[in-house]
Amino acid sequence: MTFKTTSLPGTLYVVATPIGNLADITYRAVTVLGTVQLIAAEDTRHSIRLLQHYGINTPCIALHEHNEQQQAKKLVERLEGGISIALISDAGTPLISDPGFHLVNRVHEQGLQVVPIPGASAALAALSVAGLPVDRFCFEGFLPAKTGARRKRLQALRDEMRTLIFYESPHRINATLQQMSEIFGGTRQAVIARELTKTFETIHSDNLEKLSAWVAADSNRQRGEFVLLVKGAEKEAASSVLNPEARRIAEILSAELSSRQAAELAATITGEKKNRLYRYMIGRSPRTERH
Ligand code: SAM
Repeated sequence: MTFKTTSLPGTLYVVATPIGNLADITYRAVTVLGTVQLIAAEDTRHSIRLLQHYGINTPCIALHEHNEQQQAKKLVERLEGGISIALISDAGTPLISDPGFHLVNRVHEQGLQVVPIPGASAALAALSVAGLPVDRFCFEGFLPAKTGARRKRLQALRDEMRTLIFYESPHRINATLQQMSEIFGGTRQAVIARELTKTFETIHSDNLEKLSAWVAADSNRQRGEFVLLVKGAEKEAASSVLNPEARRIAEILSAELSSRQAAELAATITGEKKNRLYRYMIGRSPRTERH
């Protein structure tokens, strides 16, 4: 087999690498990594294993979230000087919850070429086997680490009708599933895709309540890398599930305020939709509205 690919001068190649199984790399990626003058890697020590496996001796420099701004400037100068560079991350497709955005943006600004070398990404690998609707989906990446911010984000996503894709870390997987079950409702279908392409690959599908219990029941199920996929909200469910905390706050406030004011304030506090809360409040309130 022959390849047309030799790396072009002044070009940045954004190269996808495996998400676990070292064989999941394209022929073109191996050729490009072997023919560029420089590889910018998220963690050079990590990537050396992959490069050695394929007999690639191209020099590497580190480009990670802490040095991307400075490195991008230097790399653009080198591209302008005529060399070709490949960008890789620790796993999968660079920029997808990984460094590289700043560099790619800067290369575009300078009118230089950026060429994708596509391949693995955990989000799409998980989606392809989840058995959830794929006609429309929404990549959410990592949720915020802090409980309050995570709750807020999940509340904002409750009515999203597209399949939701999240990345999650092992030490938060339990808490996130519990929160999802509480906020999206325990009957919502979801899938956990763990350790894709690796020895302990697990794809488990159930409703959120059962999935949460299944993960909590065995610490081995909480190890490794995870993609969490959640089915989008049903049309009717989307408008009928009201955040219980928002409901509770609105009910307390309604002792002193009008239904509209209580709904507005509770919506501001919890992130719930004002109109939905107001509809609920006037539906339950037998008393005359105060204005
Ligand atoms: N750029 C990568 C991609 O294209 O998928 C993602 C990088 S992000 C820093 C790492 C996260 O991706 C992990 O915490 C996990 O959520 C997900 N991930 C990566 N590899 C995975 C795998 N083999 N199985 C399941 N999830 C994986």
